[in-house]
Amino acid sequence: MLVFTDLDGTLLDHDTYSFDAALPALRLLEKKNIPLIINTSKTRGEIEMYRSLLGNRHPFVSENGGGIFIPEGYFRSKFRYDRASGGYLVIEPGTPREELRDVLKSVADETGIRLKGISDMSLSEIMEATGLDEDSARLATERSYSEPFLIYGDEEKVRRKMVEKGYNHTRGSRFHHILGENDKGKAVRILSGIYRLESPSIETLGVGDSPNDLPMLMEVDFPMLVRKRGGTFDSGCRLENMTLADGEGPAGFNSAILKFFIRYEEKTSTENRI
Ligand code: MG
Repeated sequence: MLVFTDLDGTLLDHDTYSFDAALPALRLLEKKNIPLIINTSKTRGEIEMYRSLLGNRHPFVSENGGGIFIPEGYFRSKFRYDRASGGYLVIEPGTPREELRDVLKSVADETGIRLKGISDMSLSEIMEATGLDEDSARLATERSYSEPFLIYGDEEKVRRKMVEKGYNHTRGSRFHHILGENDKGKAVRILSGIYRLESPSIETLGVGDSPNDLPMLMEVDFPMLVRKRGGTFDSGCRLENMTLADGEGPAGFNSAILKFFIRYEEKTSTENRI
């Protein structure tokens, strides 16, 4: 089993960025040797901070599937990657950020709608919009394959213009995102494919809270949606086989994962008896 998870609003509390409420589930995954793979719109630097807090040594996915980082020596099998960097073999489905920034500018010009990219925001504006401290806000600006932005006007008109130009639009817990060909689902497909070289029968579980998680949730065998702040589920995220978690953010992650593995074990032990 592989567990893919979003960070903001899923494993991390929307406001405090704490994962404390998910600790029992995190310990269970560790005990069972189940890789927890972070799949987020956050940057490599931000993810590395949480990986060290979590004691996580597994591959991870940054910037909505823009970059897939695999620790060197993690897999025995050979696979294709784009570059080696700082102890990782990196697969880069993402579009360079400069290109995305140019497209964002032309979308703003052509629609007459004001868009504010994270690169046009000061550090204090980012801190204000996200609730991050200064160091974390700085890590959030170090982007390679995405440009989170705010829309001051008709969101649908902006989305249509981006699609018309051949780019994708998605929405996370706080920001809108402009993307090239990449999304969180494509990253799940690529990474699961590499795991399957070594463990062909591997199954996948995914946890998210927002529309940018939907491609990931569609790709996994067991999709789970956690509640947003205030207790509601995002109306833009529905799949037939989806488990709706009993709890917001990390509390939802915790209860959904614990319940899943209790049921999963009952099921597999029954199958083994038969
Ligand atoms: Mg989220």
